[in-house]
Amino acid sequence: MARPNICTNIPGPKALEWLKRDSDFVSPSYGRPYPLVAESGKGIAITDVDGNVFLDFSAGIAVCSTGHCHPDVVTAIKEQASRLIHMSGTDFYYPEQVIMAEEISRITPGKGMKKSFFGNSGAEAVEAGFKVARYHTKRPRMLAYIGAFHGRTMGALSLTGSNSKYRRGFAPMVPGVTHVPYPYCYRCPFNLEQESCNFACITYIREDVFERYVPPTEVAALVCEPIQGEGGYIIPPDGYFREIKKLCEEHGILFMCDEVQSGMGRTGKMFAIEHWGVEPDIICIAKGVASGMPLGICCASSDIMDWHQGAHASTFGANPVSCRAAFMTIKLLEEGLMDNATRMGDLIMSRLQEMQEKYDIMGDVRGKGLMIAAEFIKNNKKERAPKISASIIDMCFKNGIALLPCGNNSIRFCPPLVVTEEECEIALEVFEKSVKANNVSF
Ligand code: PLP
Repeated sequence: MARPNICTNIPGPKALEWLKRDSDFVSPSYGRPYPLVAESGKGIAITDVDGNVFLDFSAGIAVCSTGHCHPDVVTAIKEQASRLIHMSGTDFYYPEQVIMAEEISRITPGKGMKKSFFGNSGAEAVEAGFKVARYHTKRPRMLAYIGAFHGRTMGALSLTGSNSKYRRGFAPMVPGVTHVPYPYCYRCPFNLEQESCNFACITYIREDVFERYVPPTEVAALVCEPIQGEGGYIIPPDGYFREIKKLCEEHGILFMCDEVQSGMGRTGKMFAIEHWGVEPDIICIAKGVASGMPLGICCASSDIMDWHQGAHASTFGANPVSCRAAFMTIKLLEEGLMDNATRMGDLIMSRLQEMQEKYDIMGDVRGKGLMIAAEFIKNNKKERAPKISASIIDMCFKNGIALLPCGNNSIRFCPPLVVTEEECEIALEVFEKSVKANNVSF
C-alpha cells in the first residue's frame, strides 16, 4: 500500500531547479495547477525529484488506468519494444494493429461489424470522428455541448465549449458547430427540477435549435461526452441518452460518443454510455486505453467508416508498443480492475456524501465508479467558489495527495483503477482536513 511522504518544502529544491528550466524552454501554454515534478511512479504513488511521495488521485488526468508502471504492462512494452517499435500502420501492415481493431470491436457497445481508425491522442480520435461523420453523411454541421471538452486541435477545439481560455486568440473555429445545453441538473440551464422537467433541454434542441437556426437535415453528428470530464464530471440523468438518441435517429444524425475520459473501465463499465444502454454510432477512445502509452482510437460501424483509401491516417497511430500496452490494459480491466472501480467509487462517494452533510461549501457530490467530483460553492445561492476549490487542491498537494480541478469550481477524483480501500481512506482524510480548513457556514 502506498502512503504520502513529504520530506522537503513543496516544491523542493530540485523541483525548483526543474521549474526554472521548464519556464526557460517549455511552451508556456500548459495549464499546470501546481508544481509536481515527477521522477517515478508505482501503482498510485508518484515520487518527485526530491523524494517526496504523492498519492496520485488524478492518474495523470485519467490516463494511468492500471496504475503507474504496472509490471504486466511494463513486461508487454519491453517485449514488444525488443521486437518491433514502429512500422507505420498508414503504409504497412502488422498484427498488433489488426488485433487492436478486433479488440476494440469486441469491447465497444453494439454487435455489428465495426472498424477502427488509430491516432495518438484524444484530440486525434475526435478529429477522426468529426471527419468520418461529415464524410459519411455528406452533411456540413455538428452539434456539441456547452461544457464539453474534446481536445485542442482545430476540429476538436471547435467542438469544445468548456472554457473560453482554450479558444482565446484562435478564432475562427471550424464552421458549422452549434453548442447546445448539457443536462447539468445541479445548475439546470432552464432553472427546472430534474423530476419534472420532461427533458426541457431536449425539447429546446427539437423546437428552438432545429426549427429556428440549425436545419437538422444538415447535421452530421451530435458529439457527446457521456459524462462531461473537463466540464465538471457532470452526469446526465437516467433516460436522457435514450431520448437524445431517439432525436438523432429521427433526423439521421450520428450519435458520436467521446469516451476519451469516461471510457476504459473508469466508471465501472468499459464505456460510460453502457450505464444507460444506448449504442453510439461513433466512439472515441484514448487516455486510459494503453495505461499511459499514446493511443487514440475512433471506432464506428463498417457502414459509417466508408471513407476512401488515403482519406485519413496518422504516422504513429496504432504504434505496436502502445497496442501491446493496450492489450494488457484491457485484460487487467476485465479481470478485476473494472469491478474495483465500482467498489472504490462507492466508497469514495459515500465518504464524500458524508462530508457534504457537514461542510456547506460542498454544494454537490456526483460520480460513477472512479469518475467522481465534488463541486464547491460560496453561499446558499450556489455561487461558484473557484478560489476555495483551488485552495483545497493546493492543501491536498502539499500534504501528498495529487488531485485535479474540473469545471471551474469542482475537484475530481480519478485515481488509477488499482487504488485500494486504505489508499482511498488516506486521501479522503487529507481531503476532509483541507475542506474543513476552507469551510464557511451559510
Ligand atoms: N476528449 C475528452 C473527453 C478529454 O477529456 C480529452 C482530454 O482531456 C480529450 C478529448 C483530448 O485528449 P488529448 O489531450 O489526448 O488530445
